[in-house]
Amino acid sequence: LFGRFVRRLSRKVQKKLAEANIVVDESFQSIAAVKAYTNEDLEYGRYKGLIDEVVQLSIRLTRFRGMFISFFIVGLFGGICLVIWFGGNLVMEGSLILSDLVSFLLQSLFIAGSLAGLGEIYASVQRSIGASERVFEILGEEPEVNITEAKNYTRFTGDIAFENVKFAYPSRKDVEVLKGIDIRIPPGQKIALVGHSGAGKSTIVQLLMKFYDLEEGRICIDGKDSREIPTRELRSNVAIVPQEVLLFGGSIKENIAYGRPGATVAEIESAAQKANAMEFIVRFPEGMDTLVGERGVKLSGGQKQRIAIARAILKDPAILILDEATSALDSNSEALIQEALQELMKNRTSIVIAHRLATIQHVDQIYVLENGAVVEFGTHKELLSSEEGVYAQLVKLQFNALAAKSV
Ligand code: ADP
Repeated sequence: LFGRFVRRLSRKVQKKLAEANIVVDESFQSIAAVKAYTNEDLEYGRYKGLIDEVVQLSIRLTRFRGMFISFFIVGLFGGICLVIWFGGNLVMEGSLILSDLVSFLLQSLFIAGSLAGLGEIYASVQRSIGASERVFEILGEEPEVNITEAKNYTRFTGDIAFENVKFAYPSRKDVEVLKGIDIRIPPGQKIALVGHSGAGKSTIVQLLMKFYDLEEGRICIDGKDSREIPTRELRSNVAIVPQEVLLFGGSIKENIAYGRPGATVAEIESAAQKANAMEFIVRFPEGMDTLVGERGVKLSGGQKQRIAIARAILKDPAILILDEATSALDSNSEALIQEALQELMKNRTSIVIAHRLATIQHVDQIYVLENGAVVEFGTHKELLSSEEGVYAQLVKLQFNALAAKSV
């Protein structure tokens, strides 16, 4: 009974402690937002509340253990008193000699002491089991990829087909995010996904990368169902240039080489050149060895994007996913980036998640998404020709917004 109780309580303490750590982690990661909103007190309060709960639970646990130990001690000494009383009577009657009583007493003391120790050990084993159950749960999770997979992956031609893909996120099974998507991209073609935020553009890309398991419909790459393609082989053929580029602490060179660890310096420099990144790299005194991130220089949004493009050029994948930045940079960086992207998209199947319609006029097909379904597709020209179409409306909206800005 006692063991079960201790185990449950230890588990609770562990869970609360993890929650408190998440608060610290989040606040430090978004320290700028916390300070900007002057919410230091709020975060402090959230942390304090959780830590107080941990303390309360721990005190309860300790109190219970205290009670258990007292119970043992009372039992132990009570037993000794009884033995002395009963044995003393027997000695006075003359039916027991004193030395026998003393040796019996000593032996019972040793045995009782050891038994009490066993109880304490049992409690501490239960406590450890409670605390480590969660760790074992995590260790027991099935890994997503088999890291011992062979390294020599075949290169795809980049023929992609989404066939009646329906999808709901595992955390929200009841909301169907994609409602039967059909998209066909022949090798080397460029397509763009457009639509309001929440339409399902990123979900399509995440499914292509096998970040989630597909339940209905299929995604074929080079005619093969993606479920049958080893995850690492698939991802080795894809590069992503994300909206928000995160650089790792280290040098610019290391950050570009992340696209293909083991690349030579000449290859890295050539990739940086093609990505129009050399232009700013050479202006740093340490050039390629300039440290970025917390201990080094802070790069601008446009510079980071060019590093990400260089990374993708170095990886040289068959399939490219480009999550376009939402806002345009100054026209000079914008032109450099667009030029680098054209270089990157050459001879690759490319999927552009487009936010600014001006940048996708030359792609081969544009798919317009609404609430998880493709409502229109065609070239920029074709889509514009139907004035009532969703795409034409979107273009008009963006054009008006731009015009209003320039006024
Ligand atoms: P878009 O990229 O077009 O802005 P998303 O593909 O990100 O749209 O999102 C489509 C829908 O899926 C949204 O309604 C969003 O709330 C939901 N969604 C996105 N990511 C998740 C997730 N990890 N868990 C649950 N729902 C999600």
